[in-house]
Amino acid sequence: MSSNLANPQVITCKAIVCWDNEEPLRLEEIQVDPPKSSEIRVKMLYASLCHTDILCTRGFPTPLFPRVLGHEGVGEVESIGEGVEDFKIGDLVIPVFLGECQECENCESGKTNLCLKYGVDFSGLMPDGTSRLSAKGKKLYHLLSCATWAEYMVTDVNYVVKIDPTMHLPYASLLSCGYTTGFGSAWMAAKVEKGSSVAIFGLGAVGLGAVEAARMQGAAKIIGIDINEKKKDTAEILGMTHFINPKESGKKNTEAVKDLTGGMGVDYCFECTGVPSLINEAIQSTKPGRGQTIVVGAGNDPTVAIDFLPLLCGGNLKGCVFGQIKVKSQLPIIMDMCKNKVKPFMPTLAMKSYLLQSMTVSIEHNL
Ligand SMILES: [Zn+2]
Ligand SMILES: [Zn+2]
Repeated sequence: MSSNLANPQVITCKAIVCWDNEEPLRLEEIQVDPPKSSEIRVKMLYASLCHTDILCTRGFPTPLFPRVLGHEGVGEVESIGEGVEDFKIGDLVIPVFLGECQECENCESGKTNLCLKYGVDFSGLMPDGTSRLSAKGKKLYHLLSCATWAEYMVTDVNYVVKIDPTMHLPYASLLSCGYTTGFGSAWMAAKVEKGSSVAIFGLGAVGLGAVEAARMQGAAKIIGIDINEKKKDTAEILGMTHFINPKESGKKNTEAVKDLTGGMGVDYCFECTGVPSLINEAIQSTKPGRGQTIVVGAGNDPTVAIDFLPLLCGGNLKGCVFGQIKVKSQLPIIMDMCKNKVKPFMPTLAMKSYLLQSMTVSIEHNL
């Protein structure tokens, strides 16, 4: 029993802190409090970068500063709060920003993963309204339900999932958000059908996840769109059949997609960039009267003007969070696929190269 008691010590360690809106990120010494009831403290082993981290340095969705960034990662349980029974010290875990109570109206509906009891928490604080992080005597906000760009973080047990130790840990970090979000958007939110056509705007971890799920679902045509030519090879390994670089195509994206689909557009279009103007381009890239557009990427603009004519004519526009993946009942399925390396699935060298690109983005952003 004693190994399951909270470590009473405050830990001093390093973390990436964003002190104010658009200020450069700084590596700081911070203090991490012990976990309270229903919480665990985790020693972080790996962390990765999601575009939402960058948005949060610009005050998304509300400005909360100073703040420790990061919501993707893998760690080892270091200490356990009172009353926690499902975790033990040494368990390997990944944070998730959404829970699943399996009892609320939404959890029981079978139509959404947005749990009403353990929803997405944008407060930057623990469920009891306080923070476990501080630096130079000042309270630090968490990012979503965690703060993975720190050597230690505290999280509520409803926002963390155990992983199999045989998983390749650096890749498992991407399951915390980006990859799962994209994969789920094609697998669960759209339920892409065999033989269908798909277009994906943005080939980061989210877009690559969507590419891979579309291939797993049997899509016949998978069109990837990105201004970064370097994404092409990675996406092709995961299943992309056609690539459009808007900087080089000389056409509007809608036009380029229609050219590849006999003028019809695609059955499913995934907007993974969060660039507002691309939502309309995505809608117009789908088949008239029946195409589906799934909004996956977050953006800084609170509102977007939508051309409603394609929707009035029968088009469909929907959004999803975490790829509509239920954390308790469906995320383990994705993990098993990864562990058992069911083809076509990560971990692959492609994802490794993505991680390296992320690091570059991170460094550039810090400068
Ligand atoms: Zn629920
Ligand atoms: Zn994310």
